[in-house]
Amino acid sequence: MSNNDDNVVSIKRHVDPNADINEMKNFVEDEQPQAMRSCLHNNVLVSEFNRSIHCRHCGATLDAFDYLLSIAKKETRLDWDLRRIRNEIERRREGLENLKREEVNTRARIKNAQFKLHDVNIALEQASEHLIKEKGHYGKR
Ligand SMILES: [Zn+2]
Repeated sequence: MSNNDDNVVSIKRHVDPNADINEMKNFVEDEQPQAMRSCLHNNVLVSEFNRSIHCRHCGATLDAFDYLLSIAKKETRLDWDLRRIRNEIERRREGLENLKREEVNTRARIKNAQFKLHDVNIALEQASEHLIKEKGHYGKR
């Protein structure tokens, strides 16, 4: 008899003693399923018939205003990204124009240096011929 009483007591200890409180309440808050907590609700079903929006992954009912607001905020971010990218393109275009001008200047300097080198080579050749003539002239003496 006393062994049987111990078993009854041990079963009662595992039951939530406050479980009856929910039964006494008129409104019971539903717990959010784990799948809804971690879902980003990226795929959406828009029901014209029910005038509602549901997540296609977790089935959560989405608030239409909140959903539209999230889309508007994404577009605001896209607006900023687009402005930043356009500024970057303009900056790169100016850099490219500077490089093109520098390339043209460098090519002109190379051309000028080639002309000067050509003149120096001609002068060197003339000097060399003159030296050979002078050496030949002195060599005959
Ligand atoms: Zn979801």
